[in-house]
Amino acid sequence: MIDAIVEAIRLAVTRIPDDVVSALREAYEREDNDVARFNLGNILRAIEIGRTESIPVCQDTGTLTFFVEAGVESPFLGEVKDWLVEATRKATTEIPLRPNAVDVLTGENSGDNTGKDVPVIHWELVPGDAIRIAVLPKGGGSENCSALAMLTPGEGWEGVKRFVVERIKACGGKPCPPVVLGIGVGGGADYSLLLAKKALLRRVGERNPDERIAEIEGELLEEINALGVGPMGMGGKTTALDVKIEVTHRHPASFPVGLIVQCWANRRAFVRIKPDGRVEVWQ
Ligand code: SF4
Repeated sequence: MIDAIVEAIRLAVTRIPDDVVSALREAYEREDNDVARFNLGNILRAIEIGRTESIPVCQDTGTLTFFVEAGVESPFLGEVKDWLVEATRKATTEIPLRPNAVDVLTGENSGDNTGKDVPVIHWELVPGDAIRIAVLPKGGGSENCSALAMLTPGEGWEGVKRFVVERIKACGGKPCPPVVLGIGVGGGADYSLLLAKKALLRRVGERNPDERIAEIEGELLEEINALGVGPMGMGGKTTALDVKIEVTHRHPASFPVGLIVQCWANRRAFVRIKPDGRVEVWQ
């Protein structure tokens, strides 16, 4: 099981998913700004090298974040956490990953990407006997542009758009655009950010099944690309490849908006562990 999780981590950090690559290629094709084309060309080259040489596409291999959908009848529930921690250690040495876990007081690096509550594991209990693990390595530069807004209900969806557009404009090239945005609206401060991060697991180009939300995703994408921040913040037509919004009910007095910014290195992979011990890894 540990080796299968290491394989998923390797897939995530060395191979950018096809939907992301297609969106980057389309951005390259429609771009007429030379600097933007140069930057997109370099990004596509880094992706190709990662894929053919099986090496990480970016030196920042991120903080490993796992979303676990744990079937309540799985015989492995009690072991998954240990497997994830051990796989993180093994992946750090074998792939290798950059050691990215430091003590918040001393700054000392643990050296193996583990530490207090790291790797980050989000749990959801689901019916059934299988366990699905999503692997999301999250780079620090883009994470630094993530933010939370506690809007008033009166500000509503116009307020959401204003907050997101202003934040992306202020961040410029810091999150290594073209970015993918995960946005969680509703719940509370904590849950909106969790929804936002989980939204990044959706494929680029896939709209929210609720047509009203899908429309807002499209409008926000257009507004962000109209900013002209462009690839790596040096101008151009594509600042964002996609916008993913997830919603949940909210307190009548609150309108929380969690924004998680993901860079062009929009990495993910999945593992499914069946009750008989068989394992699938995919992207
Ligand atoms: S933000 Fe993303 S692309 Fe930029 S250095 Fe970090 S992981 Fe790499």
